[in-house]
Amino acid sequence: MAIDSNHAPMCSGALSVYEQRVLGALCDALLPKGSAVLPGAAALGIAGDIEALLGRLHGQPRWLVRAMLLGFDATALLGRPPELFHRLDLQRRRRWVEDSRTSRLRPRREALGGLEALVQLAYASHPRVSALIGYDGRPLVPLGPAGPPRPVDLPVIRYPDVTDAKIVADVVVVGSGAGGAVAAETFARAGLDVVVLEEGPPVQRDDVVGSRPVDRLFEFYRDGGLTFTLGNPVISLPMGRAVGGTTVVNSGTCFRTPEAVLASWAASGITGVDPEGMEPWFESVESVLGVQPVPEEVLGTNGQIMRRGAEQLGLSGGPIRRNIRGCHGHGVCAFVCPVDAKQAMHVSYLPRAAAAGARVFSGTRVRRVRLRAGRAAGVIADVLDPLSGRKRGTLQVDARATVLAAGAVFTPALLARQHLAGSSRQLGRNLVIHPGAGTTARFDEPLEAWRGTMQSYYVDEKLADGVLLEATFPPPGLGYSAGSLPGWGSDTSLFALYPHMAACGSIVGDAGVGRVGPLGRHGVSIRYNLTRQDATKVLEGIAMAAEIFFAAGAVEVYPMLPGLDSIRSASEVRHVREGRWRPSDLHLSAYHPMGTARMGADPSNSVVDPFGSVWDVPDLFVFDASVLPSSSHVNPQITIMALVARMAARLADSLT
Ligand SMILES: Cc1cc2nc3c(=O)[nH]c(=O)nc-3n(C[C@H](O)[C@H](O)[C@H](O)COP(=O)(O)OP(=O)(O)OC[C@H]3O[C@@H](n4cnc5c(N)ncnc54)[C@H](O)[C@@H]3O)c2cc1C
Ligand code: SF4
Repeated sequence: MAIDSNHAPMCSGALSVYEQRVLGALCDALLPKGSAVLPGAAALGIAGDIEALLGRLHGQPRWLVRAMLLGFDATALLGRPPELFHRLDLQRRRRWVEDSRTSRLRPRREALGGLEALVQLAYASHPRVSALIGYDGRPLVPLGPAGPPRPVDLPVIRYPDVTDAKIVADVVVVGSGAGGAVAAETFARAGLDVVVLEEGPPVQRDDVVGSRPVDRLFEFYRDGGLTFTLGNPVISLPMGRAVGGTTVVNSGTCFRTPEAVLASWAASGITGVDPEGMEPWFESVESVLGVQPVPEEVLGTNGQIMRRGAEQLGLSGGPIRRNIRGCHGHGVCAFVCPVDAKQAMHVSYLPRAAAAGARVFSGTRVRRVRLRAGRAAGVIADVLDPLSGRKRGTLQVDARATVLAAGAVFTPALLARQHLAGSSRQLGRNLVIHPGAGTTARFDEPLEAWRGTMQSYYVDEKLADGVLLEATFPPPGLGYSAGSLPGWGSDTSLFALYPHMAACGSIVGDAGVGRVGPLGRHGVSIRYNLTRQDATKVLEGIAMAAEIFFAAGAVEVYPMLPGLDSIRSASEVRHVREGRWRPSDLHLSAYHPMGTARMGADPSNSVVDPFGSVWDVPDLFVFDASVLPSSSHVNPQITIMALVARMAARLADSLT
């Protein structure tokens, strides 16, 4: 899809009167009044809440929602008699929604899926619904009388403290996420003068504590999390946009790169990335981040259930290793940790970099790399107003080395916009994303599975085949847990059983079939088609999760496949494996874009050398997820940080 990524201030009038009508009609059809274990959408003003959330975005995401409303309304013209959806009576609207779920017309299914996710998000995070299902956001382990630790000090420069300016540094780093922050710290501690330019806002503890997870979704995710791949199927691909990058909103899971993956990279000629060579870099990153297995007291029922089922079946797994210090189990890790227990970049590497002299800017969106005599010489950035997102000035940074760490989607787009780094024809290609599906299960007993760490227990029994399972339970409405309930919208009684649900996500080691490119002035297009082999891995992940849940005592599992809304026993799991499902039948999300400026030993088939130096442009470097030569097969942040620590140390040596 196309992304154009500024936040705008809250404003009314995000939708036309016609669009409001379609949205209201859909909300009513999904959550009608009177079906009520829980109140209906109209009683809660859900359509208005959605419009207010959309008012915080502008550009492509809002346009996309409007297109889905228009498109879905028009699909009912295919009915008998033809009529716009919003003009149908309630009964026919409900039937149209049900039929749309299994329609052979993909755009009809996908428009409903996208809109339904928005309705779910607004509904489940409504304070009255949260209260009725018992979600109060309290941590599993209460904070002591002293409350949370003091916020970590990270000075950030932004408009109006900077407008038009020209500054000089040894190194400029574009992006402050997993790659950018580790690089900045390495340079600053080597005594180099470092400038970090980040487009997103800084995290302020007071704003986080007083807000709901859904508010943080719209503040710290790019385009409020409404970023998708275009292809078959459409896949949700959220990314962070903040000082600290996606690490601010990630789940904190810390796997080392599997040895087989490192060995394959080394075998391709990239020296030094074999398991032995990488060991010191993993150790160094893990010690800065306090990586440790999830402590028992914050594992939560979701993790306990996964462990019970996996042990029953004899599957290999364990509590996930995470970057935490003093975790209380709020379970909102992917919506900014409210007590800074998760060692995201804004509380770990960036403060260390700043303490060593690095200057960190926020609201500075790099537009282009400056070139002098064919060499990179710094960057030009737009200075953005944090309230309106409008451009207020231009910042020029002159530097001896220019490091791009804007992530695997925006780094290649930035380069391609200037026709740089294209000689191998690999720039923007080889996109892997770890597509995966969420599986939800219902238990007789109440679990309140949201209490405890959000991502808690893994099963790696089939990692070698590209399937990894992770017990993950996000807050209601945010993520796949509630989305994986069949017809939840039209049956609030099922939603009322939310406290009885457990959930598990899968990630699939995919083969590299996507492509990223620039679109317009700041946007990107992300194309990705799931292969049949990868679809089979997704189905295996759903089947394994279902077996684990039944072994742990589940009464019903929701695989969310067309015509297979729920299964009630382990013997029925075979329907998941044996069904003739197509990629377009799968509801997928992905969180790990990688590989779009891959490193290699041969300039004819890679974009950067084994130390991140762009083959085509001297003094230009890529230090982020783009450089991974292939899928990491596990959550990639430790892989990215360790590779960057290694590359940055080498660059720092050459500059000092
Ligand atoms: C919801 C979610 C959960 C995840 N959970 C995990 C997990 O548990 N474990 C794990 O290992 N991985 C996880 N990931 C993935 C992990 O966080 C990323 O792989 C990692 O952060 C990528 O690092 P990066 O440096 O490449 O990019 P990022 O961390 O995304 O940082 C890039 C930064 O560059 C900025 N930027 C972009 N363009 C510009 C520009 N033109 N000018 C200035 N700045 C710019 C962006 O705003 C962003 O802040 C998760 C991801 C998501 C979305
Ligand atoms: S890391 Fe996650 S579970 Fe732990 S305190 Fe932070 S939000 Fe809560």
